[in-house]
Amino acid sequence: MISYADYHKEAPTDTNALAELLYPNITGTIAELEEKYPPRQLPRGAKVTRFAPSPTGFVHIGGLFGALTDERLAHQSGGVFMLRIEDTDQKREIEGGVQGIITAFERFGLRFDEGATRDGEVGSYGPYRQRQRAEIYQIVAKQLVREGKAYPCFCSEEDLAAMREAQEKEKANFGYYGKWAVHRDWTYDQIKEAIDEGKPFVLRFRSNGDPSVTKTVHDCIKGELRFPENDQDMVLLKSDGIPTYHFAHICDDHFMRTTHVVRGEEWLATLPFHIQLFEAVGWEHPEYCHTAQVMKLDGDAKRKLSKRKDPEAAVEYFHVEGFPVPSVLEYLMTLLNSNFEEWRLANPTLPLDDFPFSTERMGTSGSLFDLNKLRDVSKNVVAMLSAEEVYRYLSAWAEEYDPDFYRLLAADPDKATAILQIGRGVPKPRKDIAVWSEMKRYMAFFYDELFVREDAMPERVSPEDRAAILERYPSIYSPDDDGTVWFAKVKELAASLGYAPETKLYKKNPGDYKGHVGDVAGVLRVALTGRTNSPDLCEVCRILGQDKVIERLNGARGL
Ligand code: GLU
Repeated sequence: MISYADYHKEAPTDTNALAELLYPNITGTIAELEEKYPPRQLPRGAKVTRFAPSPTGFVHIGGLFGALTDERLAHQSGGVFMLRIEDTDQKREIEGGVQGIITAFERFGLRFDEGATRDGEVGSYGPYRQRQRAEIYQIVAKQLVREGKAYPCFCSEEDLAAMREAQEKEKANFGYYGKWAVHRDWTYDQIKEAIDEGKPFVLRFRSNGDPSVTKTVHDCIKGELRFPENDQDMVLLKSDGIPTYHFAHICDDHFMRTTHVVRGEEWLATLPFHIQLFEAVGWEHPEYCHTAQVMKLDGDAKRKLSKRKDPEAAVEYFHVEGFPVPSVLEYLMTLLNSNFEEWRLANPTLPLDDFPFSTERMGTSGSLFDLNKLRDVSKNVVAMLSAEEVYRYLSAWAEEYDPDFYRLLAADPDKATAILQIGRGVPKPRKDIAVWSEMKRYMAFFYDELFVREDAMPERVSPEDRAAILERYPSIYSPDDDGTVWFAKVKELAASLGYAPETKLYKKNPGDYKGHVGDVAGVLRVALTGRTNSPDLCEVCRILGQDKVIERLNGARGL
């Protein structure tokens, strides 16, 4: 049997000559790149993070989850948050994909300090689109070849498939390693011959890892991780010179001076290789933060949120449905940090950004995404917004998804804001709105265009009394009355018609009254709003205005 050490002898050829043979046009050096992308001058402890999506245009809620972590880590520490576009896989790219990503992030108010923009980029650590960084990868690759740490592999797809079959038969581990790494020890002449024949090659890493050796790496979320060293000669550059994710990210995160890599835990499996690569090039690796996957309950079982099956997997869904941005962010924060809800209870009015976010408080197993919980959180969040903020969010949503409603809102912003002010800014604000799409129904009766009489008059009030209430109300109503005076007048009206002015009086001696003040207010409510449930009637009257009040009362005669 051939020993492990035999497989891991030195590169067998003149590696300098090999580097020239493989990359004759690459003349730049790592030293030049180090100079071009110097360590950042940032305050101590400042974190540099990046969101690094493929330009598929689709932003998964898990992506937003990670990006919020990136954003908080960077901005909380006075650092930098970048957008890097990982466009090496052209098949996954869609037209306008980058724009889609940027729009999604703008909507969530997550601000990138550096990186790709709609039509270019900002920042001096770019380019921020991987395809424009080809030369950087090749400079590093060439150096690895020079140092005997990378070599060309001429295996075709068929060769690799045959290898896999043989490995299956032998019950060996899959992959390109040890005796299976057939091009690892090719001589310069063999390689030259293949290249002269025009054979395509990929560049592989010459691993010196020994799987019987255990390594420990610190992950900011998962703590100490132990894993066997990597012995696979993984691909660094594909045959078209485009890097794999593994190689691209180590070059990018080094030269962009990323301090913290936040990414999904699906990358844990290749973390040993990434660490090994950083060591091979002689760079310090960034801190890694592997985030748990976003899950949902499907029946009793927990499963990954799926792009195919679950509309809420797409960040776009929340926008279309009208979930308020601050609600989604607030809810994500409850998933991200285990102590957030406690903090929020103690600090109900502080902005989200004041929360001391920490990777140590992040869960290590899947985070359960629950739309009902999001709705509950949202009701609280919307209740805490000012009427002006609600107006801004609501009209922006309506402009895109309900143009008719938008026109009404935009035609009279003061009226809309006054409506939204009802029950807001008081010790116990109304908590009935979770998504903007529910707002139209809530506000509808204030607008003739949307007003419908939905509910019938309270049956306990006779038709004669109803008529009397409708007739007498205009004479007692004054727009100058505050809530207390207004209610006192309604009580008086009730008493004059034989209804108890207080509910408790009625409850004590129901036989003495036809009903109570609530029944009388109920008649007014149905007349004015068309519903048995509505916000504060005194406010409703003030916003409708005297003329409209009379018109609605008249319209309710005979109901
Ligand atoms: N493009 C990779 C992904 O979408 C990025 C992972 C990373 O952040 O390093 O999974």
